[in-house]
Amino acid sequence: MAKISINLATGSFQQEEIIVGIDLGTTNSLVAFINPEKNPQVINDTGKGLLVPSVVHFNNMGDALVGNEAKEFLTTDPSNTIFSVKRLLGRSYKDVAGHQDTFSYKIIDDENDSLVKIKAGDKFYTPIELSAEILKELKARAEHALKTPVNRAVITVPAYFNDSQRQATRDAGRLAGLDVLRIVNEPTAASLAYGLGLDPTQQKTIAVYDLGGGTFDVSILAIQNGIFEVLSTNGNTFLGGDDFDRAIVHYWIEKNGLNKEELATDPILMQSLRLKAEEAKIALTTQNIYNEKLGEIWCSITKITFEELIAARVAETIDSCKQALNDAKLSISDIDEVVLVGGSTRTPYVKQAVASFFDRKPHDQINPDEVVALGAAIQADILAGNRSDILLLDVTPLSLGIETMGGLMDVIIPRNAKVPTKAGRQYTTSLDGQVNMKISVYQGERDLVQENRKLAEFDLKGIPAMPAGLPKVDINFLLNADGILTVQAIELRSGVKQEVDIKPSYGLTDDTVEKMLIDSITHAKSDVEQRMLIEARSEGEQLVYTAERFIEKHGVYLTADEISNTKEHIAALKTALGTAEKDDILKKADELNEFTRPFAERVMDVAVSSAMKGKSIDK
Ligand code: ADP
Ligand code: MG
Repeated sequence: MAKISINLATGSFQQEEIIVGIDLGTTNSLVAFINPEKNPQVINDTGKGLLVPSVVHFNNMGDALVGNEAKEFLTTDPSNTIFSVKRLLGRSYKDVAGHQDTFSYKIIDDENDSLVKIKAGDKFYTPIELSAEILKELKARAEHALKTPVNRAVITVPAYFNDSQRQATRDAGRLAGLDVLRIVNEPTAASLAYGLGLDPTQQKTIAVYDLGGGTFDVSILAIQNGIFEVLSTNGNTFLGGDDFDRAIVHYWIEKNGLNKEELATDPILMQSLRLKAEEAKIALTTQNIYNEKLGEIWCSITKITFEELIAARVAETIDSCKQALNDAKLSISDIDEVVLVGGSTRTPYVKQAVASFFDRKPHDQINPDEVVALGAAIQADILAGNRSDILLLDVTPLSLGIETMGGLMDVIIPRNAKVPTKAGRQYTTSLDGQVNMKISVYQGERDLVQENRKLAEFDLKGIPAMPAGLPKVDINFLLNADGILTVQAIELRSGVKQEVDIKPSYGLTDDTVEKMLIDSITHAKSDVEQRMLIEARSEGEQLVYTAERFIEKHGVYLTADEISNTKEHIAALKTALGTAEKDDILKKADELNEFTRPFAERVMDVAVSSAMKGKSIDK
């Protein structure tokens, strides 16, 4: 398949173009490229530094600011300053509900399985849009430093990211105006940066230990014939360098006899203490003692004390390493190489703990907070065909997927996936008693199927009549080495099954592929807007349905005022649903939700107490 580069600034095709590698991190993001000396290098846009804090601030005009400047608003305007958005990417509210405390901004609870949204000012943003802001900033910095348009990128994700998190990352790239050639696992990129996996005759087992700002993961990889396989991953998405900073802050609070309640009401002082603690932690990487003052507060700590403070957390990471080895059915002696990733592995105590557990010196020559981006740049260079020594596998040129609610494209096999490949996802019915399901298979990068190429359509017949949402229909795509796609649909409860074979490349010219790719990037913004409107509408409609049913069933537990107010909220939402105003729909839905939440709790309480009396209220 031909490689196409599109110069979005001029609309023309370019032959030689730089493809960048991007580490889109929870705490920090960065972009790297292969310099003219053929070495990977992190882009340092004059004076701005290598690391771009993954923080987005919105002013009251809704303009976004990204990086160090945005970070300064964390204390002064916390509700409009979004950090750690990567934790929310491709997640539903249920996934993150237990952790709302860790976010200072508002995450919308729509009480269903759809993806989370974040409220800043009067607007609602998806994590995809927020990540796109970070990617836009990285793209702009790269363009400024390299003095050339940058349109193509490889982006890294944690090895444990699922399908929907990977797809969300791709979408964020597209929304930032980037053609995302491949999503690469962070541990794979880090290994590549150390040259591991570049020799196709090499066979190795690698442990990659990644301790960042707020997350920890360890991955066990096997490389064979230049292909990386993830054997296991383990970790904790709420453990990282931030915890070390917090431990130091607590230590200083105790030592100085500060009043915790008073401090809690002074976010600016708390933030200054946290920054001071990070400074101390970094100093203790190379010194044995840190000794400073913050106003009247003594900020002093020795390396030994610091190590005592973090020992338990570090021990947890080592437990994860054990677990990962167990899951991979390997022992320490099977590991050929250990790679350190993440800024927090600079702490000598962490390094020693990893070295002593794996009983070998880990790779730490490359800066651990840059190693992933550098590896991504190497992967980009391989994809650009600049490394003749490395075999490029066949890839599928366009994404393959099916039509879901509202005519949206749901990608099952993303473009540039290695062939052969298989992937699948589970769906359900939307109507009570639905016995047939139409499955329409499409190819392309647009969000609406009508803009993509239709490949096939068939009916899965004979689903036993059940309430909506109960049937489980697995749809599996299998793309073989000859480019034949087999689509199989199977309803798991009854076993009814249907299958078709398709040749996606049939009638597809290179010109068509080029055009489809350009269209997907030029329409990315309007596509995402349409997708979000469709999603907002179906969530809103669902909520109206639930709320109306609630009043019908449980109206006796509400006062007349509560009922009429609920009805007003429902009417307001219905009016919004009749418009194309996504933010208004979400706002009205949020208001209805907030208003009715206490009623649901009340009914639950009544249900519990009447259950004790042996009655059922559900009549
Ligand atoms: P992420 O992958 O989560 O985006 P990074 O790999 O950039 O994060 O790591 C950020 C963390 O590394 C922060 O907690 C930061 O304080 C920590 N860090 C950076 N430099 C050092 C250092 N010299 N010693 C200890 N920790 C450090
Ligand atoms: Mg990282």
